[in-house]
Amino acid sequence: MPNPKRRHSKQRGRLRRTYYKLKENNFSKCPQCGRPKLPHRICFFCGYYKGNSVVEIITKQEKKKEREKKKKA
Ligand SMILES: [Zn+2]
Repeated sequence: MPNPKRRHSKQRGRLRRTYYKLKENNFSKCPQCGRPKLPHRICFFCGYYKGNSVVEIITKQEKKKEREKKKKA
C-alpha cells in the first residue's frame, strides 16, 4: 500500500480545501406562488409541481389548531 512519505503542513491541506467552497443553490421561481424553489422538485411553500397540487402543505398554525382539537376531543 502506498503511503505518504511526509506529513502535509496545515497550510497545504487548507490551501487545497479553499476550492471546496459550497456552490450557491440555483433556485428557480415557483409559477404558482412565485417563491424560490429547487428545480425539478415540488414547491416547499404551496406543494405544486408542473401546475398540479401534489402535496398538501400544512402550516405550523394549522398543525397547532389540529393538536388543540385533538386535545379537546
Ligand atoms: Zn409555490
